[in-house]
Amino acid sequence: MNKIVHFILVLLMGGITINMHAEDVTNKEKRVIVICAHPDDAELTTGGTSILLSHLGYKIKFVSLTNGNKGHQEGTKNEIAIRRYNEAQEVKRRMNCAYEVLNNEDGELEANLKNRMEVIRLIREWKADIVITHPSYDYHPDHRNTSLLVQDAAFLVNVPKILPEVPALRESPLFLYTRGRYVNRQKPHPDIVVDITPVVREKAYLIDAHASQIYEWLPWINRSKEIIPDTQEGKIEYILKEYVLKRGEIKENDKPVVEKWYGSRAKEVKAIEAFEICEFGRSVDDQDIRELFPMFSK
Ligand SMILES: [Zn+2]
Repeated sequence: MNKIVHFILVLLMGGITINMHAEDVTNKEKRVIVICAHPDDAELTTGGTSILLSHLGYKIKFVSLTNGNKGHQEGTKNEIAIRRYNEAQEVKRRMNCAYEVLNNEDGELEANLKNRMEVIRLIREWKADIVITHPSYDYHPDHRNTSLLVQDAAFLVNVPKILPEVPALRESPLFLYTRGRYVNRQKPHPDIVVDITPVVREKAYLIDAHASQIYEWLPWINRSKEIIPDTQEGKIEYILKEYVLKRGEIKENDKPVVEKWYGSRAKEVKAIEAFEICEFGRSVDDQDIRELFPMFSK
């Protein structure tokens, strides 16, 4: 049945399912899922892009495949997991997004069949247009296994006989890798860079929700000599410098990519998030990318 006719029929019949069909008739909102290993990874790698897309009306979901229960030098595993779960809830309050923390052990995530099915379920249920995950080559085994799990799901999200209880997607999402700590030697240029300059403070505020990590665990494990400021204002400045601007620095290889997407505005770009396309998902050209990332100059 024609969707508009169906919509009118539904209206006449009392409108019980108006929302569902209204979504079909109007231009469907875009949906992004960021699947990472630990609570805080999505914010650190993709926070700025997520904030910008959220301002454009995109629906954003962050997922942590582990509960992060080894991410502190003090306390029991249970105490750490609860604290980190609450920090993820705080992120939800600070940004208009969904957040799911799965109860897998930190540091023990395996790229097995059970976890693959879980990732397929997450992507399908969110009806994702864009899926973002860690790069294949990264320092933490949970990051590498998360990346592999998402790659393994990329084709299978479209296969109806796999996990038949959750309807398969008819369209492939665009799959992207975030920038890890290391340069991909085979492919030193990112495919996409997003200018996060307008939202650097918002990104810092989002990261500040992970107090157990930013002010306690990461300085301890990295043997950082930086003094953590006492005031809230000082803390935001600290995150801005250490986590947003340093990690968002435009490297030599990024410059042509910034110019490609931002044209004459490229010189105003002060901080970026960089992404590489995973070729197992939707194949896209530049026009498709501009449609999915409307912040780029036309
Ligand atoms: Zn992590």
